[in-house]
Amino acid sequence: MNVADVIVDVPTMQTNTPYSYLIPDDLKGRLETGMRVVVPFGNGNRKVEGFVVGIGNLAQDKTTTLKSISSIMDLSPVLNNELIKLSSWMANKTYSFQISCLLTMLPSVMKAEYSSTVELIGEIDDKSLANRFKKQQVIPFDEDHFSKAEMAKLSDLKKRNQIKMTYHVQNKAKPKTELAILNQITDFAEVTQEISKNATAQIKLLKLLQKFPDQPLIQRKIVNENAISISAINNFVKKGFVKKIRVEKYRNPYKHQIVLNKPKKLNSDQQIAVNKVDRAIAQHHDRVFLLEGVTGSGKTEVYLQTIQHAINDKRQALMLVPEIALTPQMVGRVKNRFGSQVAIIHSGLSNGEKYDEWRRINQGEAQVVVGARSAIFAPLKNIGLIILDEEHDASYKQDDNPRYHTRDVAIWRAAYHHCPVILGSATPSLESRARAEKGVYDLILLPNRINQQSLPQVTIVDMTQEIEKHGDIFSTELLNDLKQTINQGNQVVLMLNRRGFSSFMLCRDCGHVLMCPNCDISLTMHLDSHTMKCHYCGFEEAIPNICPVCHSKNIRYFGTGTERAAQQLEKLIPEAKILRMDVDTTKRKGAHENILRKFGNHEANVLLGTQMIAKGLDFPDVTLVGVLNADTGLDLPNFRASERTFDLLTQVSGRAGRSDKNGKVIIQTFNPDNYAIKLASTQNYEKFFQKEMELRHLADYAPYYFTIKVTISSLSEHQAAKEAYQVSNYLKGNLEKDTIILGPTPRPIARVKSRYYYQIIIKYKRDQNLDQALKHVQQVSQKEIRKGLRIAIDPEPVNFM
Ligand code: ADP
Ligand code: ZN
Ligand code: ZN
Repeated sequence: MNVADVIVDVPTMQTNTPYSYLIPDDLKGRLETGMRVVVPFGNGNRKVEGFVVGIGNLAQDKTTTLKSISSIMDLSPVLNNELIKLSSWMANKTYSFQISCLLTMLPSVMKAEYSSTVELIGEIDDKSLANRFKKQQVIPFDEDHFSKAEMAKLSDLKKRNQIKMTYHVQNKAKPKTELAILNQITDFAEVTQEISKNATAQIKLLKLLQKFPDQPLIQRKIVNENAISISAINNFVKKGFVKKIRVEKYRNPYKHQIVLNKPKKLNSDQQIAVNKVDRAIAQHHDRVFLLEGVTGSGKTEVYLQTIQHAINDKRQALMLVPEIALTPQMVGRVKNRFGSQVAIIHSGLSNGEKYDEWRRINQGEAQVVVGARSAIFAPLKNIGLIILDEEHDASYKQDDNPRYHTRDVAIWRAAYHHCPVILGSATPSLESRARAEKGVYDLILLPNRINQQSLPQVTIVDMTQEIEKHGDIFSTELLNDLKQTINQGNQVVLMLNRRGFSSFMLCRDCGHVLMCPNCDISLTMHLDSHTMKCHYCGFEEAIPNICPVCHSKNIRYFGTGTERAAQQLEKLIPEAKILRMDVDTTKRKGAHENILRKFGNHEANVLLGTQMIAKGLDFPDVTLVGVLNADTGLDLPNFRASERTFDLLTQVSGRAGRSDKNGKVIIQTFNPDNYAIKLASTQNYEKFFQKEMELRHLADYAPYYFTIKVTISSLSEHQAAKEAYQVSNYLKGNLEKDTIILGPTPRPIARVKSRYYYQIIIKYKRDQNLDQALKHVQQVSQKEIRKGLRIAIDPEPVNFM
């Protein structure tokens, strides 16, 4: 008997073991591995979505208890064998369930939509409900059709078997299609005879068909671009010369004109880098290269030329960039080199656009894929090169299930495809740099900027001396340089890693700080929207005039965000024309691009923003970079705080003096002696690496130890704490002696969205029992879900808040 192995999507009963289902006769021959199906599940036979991960045969006597697949959701497989294998590896490696890995690999629009309907099967007392069912026997069970109270009543009736509930699974993704015509003529000479010499439109159409006899021609284009009337086309349909068909239509998110950008002549360091990677491509060797190059050293050109080699070798290239760095500039550079062979996936696209790009890749129409984290799952079939730009970036780690690191997935796929990986950065992660030290990765250096330009000159300004002047945001030195730069007609990039106007409200009389009702965090004042906002859960309320506790009018706002900095700067330097770039000004689609285009056109001379301005920007007239407060990241309770600060300062400094003009950087700080700030000011990565490695060694942190974070959360603080102690006791009893277990402790921000969080940190070098113990915790977590508890296991966490 034909049987399919199916991984089902049942949130509260997840398992990595597939269920077997019979393939009914009418689906035989159509069903393939990698397709999604709808299957009955559990006692109630509710309908759920599943992925077919294998098809095989079972003896008849083994199949008598099996249920049958209800329907197929896809016309062709949405996941190939490689991705199915990858999902199983990922589930194991990240302590997640295979179903969440499979779902992560698909564009979000393909996530199935569940709906349910209700139907009366008994007598009920409730008159109004009974009347509703008299009019309509089967009613969708949702908020459009029932009030919350009615829905509760229905759930109750269901328990008493008085109504029947049916679950449905729907496929949300529908490709857009449009009309096209397909040629049916075999003898063009004969048809030419038939057409009257005066019918110019028909003659035009005939010529067009003769030119493209075998491909569908889009009707819309024929009418608009070739000025052929619809009636001429319809006339041909009637005569049987053409057939109308529907073809898939792709949305095109990048309509901008492609300006072909020819490969540059490489300098000797770049040439060495390209040669090494090329050799690995040619030899189908899955080597990992760490390309360490200062900002502006031409790493991107190395990427582009090695991608070209993969294409010449009839293979494909996958290039990952951090979400924030996916500026139109970077996209433009790849598009301008490789044109329509490129597919781009990032969060700025609509769901439909993402789906279209994904389909183009799945159908083999794209040779180069550029995208943020999730693009690592692009269904390319023959990869010749994988690139991770800014490999140290924290956005490569997914914070939610499945908690994978893009770098690990890249290396897995490279091994599968026998191709090299380039990890590129000016400030590699300590983990990667340490692996290069050991020879696990191949280190390639680009020590100089292109054209031997010097790195910008950096000044550190001690703000403890400046605090009394100018309202504590701008130092005298920065103000002077700002004026000078603007007067010279050059441009400035200013970074303040905090959005909003003020970071908190304090009552001078009773000391009350206005907090979010759902989270343990103060509310930030936003003048744009005239609200106090929570940056964690999105809660908003009006800005108060009096203290909500003691009703005093003596309330003050503290802490500076980008809004206030921009307002202040306008007052201090009226000539400053400022563009602000942060989460609040880039919400709308295309806003990000718009701001950068304006800045590129010199419609403004100051670009002021949060860390989203630190990466990837390449504007030749930017000669001054100012960091308003270098300390924002230093106080975070995270062993990577110094590394993050060093990276960010180095990246943002690299925006100055990128062409033939010299650059200057001013870093304002309250910790002028901090080693991360000092070493970033000389862009001395190697020295920072040595120093930070020593500190990590002393404190038993990565890369000397591996880290796993286990987080337990619940709406009840007591329940979260109790479970956290149970988990930690279990781990203490089952892990090896050398393994260090810290906690449980409340998370630094202990409550977010009304849930209480406790965390346990495991540090280990080698522990034979670890995997089994954590798999056990993972199983327990499934049972506890029904009690409202959530347990998350996060290998190599980047976020400790
Ligand atoms: P990175 O990615 O290391 O920051 P980029 O690739 O952006 O550096 O290079 C910095 C600048 O130098 C860019 O404007 C780029 O076009 C230019 N560039 C790169 N390589 C060359 C080269 N070999 N010859 C001339 N210009 C180059
Ligand atoms: Zn008060
Ligand atoms: Zn909140």
